[in-house]
Amino acid sequence: MKTINDFNFENKKALIRVDFNVPLNDAFEVTDATRIYSAKPTIIKILEDGGSCILMSHLGRPKGKQDEFSLKHIAKEVEDVLGVEVLFANDCIGDEAEKAAQELKPGQILLLENLRFHQEEEQGDVKFAEQLSRLGDIYVNDAFGTAHRAHASTTIVAQFFMGKKCFGALLAQEIESIDKVMQTGEKPVTAILGGAKVSSKITIIDNILDKIDHLIIGGGMTFTFIKAQGGKIGNSLVEDDKLELANEILKKAKAKNVQVHLPLDVIIADAFSNDAHTNTCKIDEIPDGWMGLDVGPNTEAMFSDVVSASKTILWNGPLGVFEMPNFSKGTIALGYAIENATKEGAFSLVGGGDSVAAVKQFGFEDKVSYVSTGGGAMLESLEGKTLPGIAAILN
Ligand code: AMP
Repeated sequence: MKTINDFNFENKKALIRVDFNVPLNDAFEVTDATRIYSAKPTIIKILEDGGSCILMSHLGRPKGKQDEFSLKHIAKEVEDVLGVEVLFANDCIGDEAEKAAQELKPGQILLLENLRFHQEEEQGDVKFAEQLSRLGDIYVNDAFGTAHRAHASTTIVAQFFMGKKCFGALLAQEIESIDKVMQTGEKPVTAILGGAKVSSKITIIDNILDKIDHLIIGGGMTFTFIKAQGGKIGNSLVEDDKLELANEILKKAKAKNVQVHLPLDVIIADAFSNDAHTNTCKIDEIPDGWMGLDVGPNTEAMFSDVVSASKTILWNGPLGVFEMPNFSKGTIALGYAIENATKEGAFSLVGGGDSVAAVKQFGFEDKVSYVSTGGGAMLESLEGKTLPGIAAILN
């Protein structure tokens, strides 16, 4: 796997695919610059080598050229984060971009206009990719969030850089973290899957059963498993068309010697509201008119025991409706358990959608080994798919 550390960028122009798809407010100010900070190590290494950087990204989902989606709005923020002047080209291909790239001197940065102002980007158009490729000497992909898309700048452009393409530091870290769980993880390996539905996690479960020792199930999808086993789930979230599938998963796990841990008890509510009346009961004895919205205290303790005995931990999906304070306790308790296991030497990876939001909200971001930045790309990796953006560098 070639990374930026395998190249000396002295007097080279690096064409870098970054993910600067950052949120903007009504005044076009960046409200969260995390993604810009994430690309900083790659950019700084190239500049310190004596190279220059040509940054390309998409922003939002423009229909053609729409000023509100222009990357010119974020140029100043990029400059502030990197501490280096940032030049801007009004198009990502064509004469202006090519001239600006040609004139770029070592130590300088050029930011290109939104790639998605050209529909050829998302179409993965080869001619458009070739036009992009003219701008740089070495292609660097540092955008994990779009690595699952076969777009021109994330995948197709790589074919024009044979022997001169590599992963940026962020993307390399993402790949290594997923490998640590899926390939080289020290045993026991535990996966915690929560969130709303079984249906959205089924491919992940199928793929990881061969790689894990323990599977902890929480969140809304619990109740499909409990109902499938004959339990009473009241008005809890359930996918009635997935009951058989839930039993099949449990059978498959048993055959593969994976220990499945379902909640023992549950916090129930008489409405889907933070202000609802609440109570605690056994997971399979939820009265009619009540719904399970968080795991109960016995479950917290049991899940914590499993986590603290683990050496590799993957967490995807909250254990309850963590957006409501009264139903966030189980998710927070799990966060503490993972924090402690990590302190004891376990490797912990949090990835995919809402668990990342939960980890950030409750302050565990720096307490786990790695928080993945790529939602869809992370989920597809866990499903065992080869991401086109990654394959394009490896080929
Ligand atoms: P996902 O995107 O599949 O990871 O699902 C995350 C969502 O699942 C969050 O918005 C949670 O509020 C929701 N969730 C977690 N536990 C439950 C539950 N017991 N009942 C309903 N929704 C839940």
